[in-house]
Amino acid sequence: TEPEILLEVNNIEVIYNHVILVLKGVSLSVPKGGIVALLGGNGAGKTTTLKAISSLLQSERGEVTKGQIRYRGEAIPEGNPAALVKRGVIQVMEGRHCFEHLTVEENLLTGAYTRHDGRGKVNQDLEMVYNYFPRLRERRKSQAGYTSGGEQQMCAIGRALMSRPETILLDEPSMGLAPQLVEEIFEIVKSLNENEGVSFLLAEQNTNVALRYAHYGYLLESGRVVMDGDAAELRENPDVKEFYLGMG
Ligand code: ATP
Repeated sequence: TEPEILLEVNNIEVIYNHVILVLKGVSLSVPKGGIVALLGGNGAGKTTTLKAISSLLQSERGEVTKGQIRYRGEAIPEGNPAALVKRGVIQVMEGRHCFEHLTVEENLLTGAYTRHDGRGKVNQDLEMVYNYFPRLRERRKSQAGYTSGGEQQMCAIGRALMSRPETILLDEPSMGLAPQLVEEIFEIVKSLNENEGVSFLLAEQNTNVALRYAHYGYLLESGRVVMDGDAAELRENPDVKEFYLGMG
């Protein structure tokens, strides 16, 4: 049987400032339990796609001018990022975005703000996050602004987890991190996917690592999907190898 589709993006067009056409018809889908990679170089449109999904374009003077975005078959209400969080989809923005003046633990707790199931459950989930990210447990009393880039990335993912999401949109998790840390973060993504059933749509320039952890990939170039397929298939594709896997 076909897996259930959670997120479905159908032929969307995005325009910035009324004139700059950045997405020229992007379609993709994320099945339940999937790790889907959105690949492509700088400026290909990965971040724009994630922001279109999570209704975060307005503040950038961007607009979805064509196409549909659905979650579990229902249209995503425009201009209302909180509505999507309520439905179980949360974006972890590029560049991490922890509150620098709060401690790591306070940051994690801010992620539980939409929940109303009581302090006990929230504490259980804090424990769950610390089990996935032992480094965050060690640093829980530290001001987030003084932790390393990798720890801040973990903090941002951990905070997202505190809302008990069904799907995480993860923008460029590898950015600015040493290779070993990138691996560590992707390993955690993999175990969250396997053990907690969290689905991921992740935007990555690091094709190599993304295609080792994702199940499926879409390759964006200048605002268009130019190729998509199973990750294993894409890894073996000669064009992907030459242009994206740094083997050329
Ligand atoms: P990166 O890895 O740099 O984030 P990306 O694939 O995520 O790249 P986007 O950030 O989505 O790419 O950008 C796609 C294109 O849209 C780029 O040409 C960029 O210059 C343009 N763009 C992004 N934000 C805006 C904006 N607010 N106004 C106008 N153009 C924008």
